[in-house]
Amino acid sequence: MKNENVFWPVAGLIMFTLIVGCSQVTEQGTSLSNASTGMGDVTDGRWKNADREPENWMGIGRSYKEQRYSSLKQINEDNVKELGLAWVYDMGTKAGGSATPVVVDGVMYVTGPWSVVYALDADTGEQLWSYDPRVNPEDGARGCCGVTNRGVAVYEGKVYVGVFDARLVALDARDGNVVWEVNTNEDNNERRTITGAPRVANGRVIIGHGGAEFGVRGYVTAYDAGNGEQLWRFYTVPGNPENGFENEAMEKAAETWTGEWWAHGGGGTAWDSMVYDPTSDVIYLGTGNGSPWNRRVRSPQGGDNLYLSSIVAINAKTGKYLWHYQTTPGESWDYTATQHLILASLEIDGTSREVIMQAPKNGFFYVLDRHTGELLSAEKFTKVTWATHVDMKTGRPVETENARYGQGPQLAFPSPFGAHNWHPMSFSRDTGLVYIPHQQVPWVYSEEEDYEAKPGTVFNLGLKWPDFPEDPEVLEQVLPMIKGSLIAWDPVNQKKAWEVDYPTIWNGGTVVSAGNLVFQGTPTGQLYAYKADTGERIWSYDIGIGIVAAPAIYSVNGEQYLSVLTGVGGALSRIAGPFAAAYQARHSNRLYTFKLGGTTTAPSIPDRRPVPPLNPPPFKAESETVNAGRDLYNRSCMRCHGEGAIAGLMEDIPDLRHSPLLHSSSGFGHTVVNGRDGTYMPGFGSQLSGSDIEQIRAYLIKRAHDALDAQGEK
Ligand code: CA
Repeated sequence: MKNENVFWPVAGLIMFTLIVGCSQVTEQGTSLSNASTGMGDVTDGRWKNADREPENWMGIGRSYKEQRYSSLKQINEDNVKELGLAWVYDMGTKAGGSATPVVVDGVMYVTGPWSVVYALDADTGEQLWSYDPRVNPEDGARGCCGVTNRGVAVYEGKVYVGVFDARLVALDARDGNVVWEVNTNEDNNERRTITGAPRVANGRVIIGHGGAEFGVRGYVTAYDAGNGEQLWRFYTVPGNPENGFENEAMEKAAETWTGEWWAHGGGGTAWDSMVYDPTSDVIYLGTGNGSPWNRRVRSPQGGDNLYLSSIVAINAKTGKYLWHYQTTPGESWDYTATQHLILASLEIDGTSREVIMQAPKNGFFYVLDRHTGELLSAEKFTKVTWATHVDMKTGRPVETENARYGQGPQLAFPSPFGAHNWHPMSFSRDTGLVYIPHQQVPWVYSEEEDYEAKPGTVFNLGLKWPDFPEDPEVLEQVLPMIKGSLIAWDPVNQKKAWEVDYPTIWNGGTVVSAGNLVFQGTPTGQLYAYKADTGERIWSYDIGIGIVAAPAIYSVNGEQYLSVLTGVGGALSRIAGPFAAAYQARHSNRLYTFKLGGTTTAPSIPDRRPVPPLNPPPFKAESETVNAGRDLYNRSCMRCHGEGAIAGLMEDIPDLRHSPLLHSSSGFGHTVVNGRDGTYMPGFGSQLSGSDIEQIRAYLIKRAHDALDAQGEK
């Protein structure tokens, strides 16, 4: 991507400005045209029988099965061409827009970045109230991947939101006032963050958290939905045996760990998928990668490291472990199993099975019996090089030679971005297919010599972050290997039914309807409709703002709507800056809501913030200094400012190659040590020494000259 700078106009200084949508904590709304009197009145009976209310999208996955399937068919393959805009709501922010709206009785409840909650009239888009938990801007750099949020849960008159700084808040669904609030952290010095949606049923609200890149021990906690009292906490990995094990499941898990794993935190964070079956009162967790990623660092004598990268079934009343299936034993690649879990009934070998399905990062599609945990099938849905297959006798993957990169660097598929990441998939009861937002990205895994864990603000991965390839010859080989696509997967026969390629990775979540339609947005700003059975593209709409979220389908007063949140963010706009920079999509967090015959025109989209010209000081540093600076940058700065110091710019996080501060050792150092008030930029304090910071500056100056050289070659 040596030509990326050609796109950026010459303009003034970027001073990073944080834009938070709503200044008021709550805003009393206007009267609501269509809602019933009790707002957010989702009872256990309604939740269990959500299929009887196709007009509502009652939870982020629509019903507790999280199939993201709508039985509405007013909008269908015959008339989808008549879809037009019904309304647009602008949150006034422009970070990651990952949430799926929840719609109950004509009211939409949705989150924007910074865990801000909005209640809107689902018919008109008029705001009823909003709630801003007022996350400290500096905490924006706490997570791996941005201040995004994937949505709320609505239950018995309350709206529940997990806040980025690890709070869980219950709001009054009528006005957005706080009913109760808890801090889910055990220790506020730990770097837990919440971007996932809570799950609710049977009087309980359940939430996990992220932070495995920073050395935390994962857990999931259940609270009393009425008053926030903690009911139970299930740890996903064992702690220090000296402190005693919390339960039998932890004692068993500890047998699969070696060394002093607890000192590294362990990870296993359940940061996104949970699916709660209120009929059996079981909650299924999807758990994340190890902390650090490299098992040789985390658990030096090996072991499966339970319950990393697993689907774990928990009794939702007691928090007691029931069963688990580990997708990636001894996880060493950031192959989380936190991806979307779907409950369904499938006819397998002539028998109806109640299953749970997942397509986690590691590239295999799993079908399990959700009552027993029995593995029914597992097949690759993408290019997978770390394992040849899953042995159905043992249920374990069969790893390939040097998959664990112990004998030198290993090019592998999938990458830490995942063959499928958090972008929700959907399951159609009509076609029997699962619609997976898929991506194929290669990655070079290699050991980091002299790795040293550093608790705090830096990544603790235990491996070397690969250099972003910029050699034209290398790029020529790498670029054709990268693709995004929509895969329609037959989960019974474990094979692809159809696939549509995209020019980009990180495409949006999907929704499917009885109108034989699958909808998906793209980070380049398109919203598409496909025939669910054949994959034929039959409608597109140029929104012009990148989309990564999944749409929701609902109806109010007999009128069917499709609504999707815009705004690219998260790991794409940050870590994978070079990809995002190439997309050139503009960014704004808005809900675009469509209906048949809609004639609304969207307001104009703000331009991207201009980038100052490349104007680095002369490059004088030794290559040793630059390489040390690169490694420090990758651990401390890369997760916001981008791989190869190429920023995605979708959240106005500056591209440091263009920073005027490169000219000032003291100015640059001051910003790194102290942070910058009112922005994401945290103060690194004493975590980086003066010479560390100078090495980072030298690396950035080198990268700025690389970019200038690339411009000169044109
Ligand atoms: Ca991870």
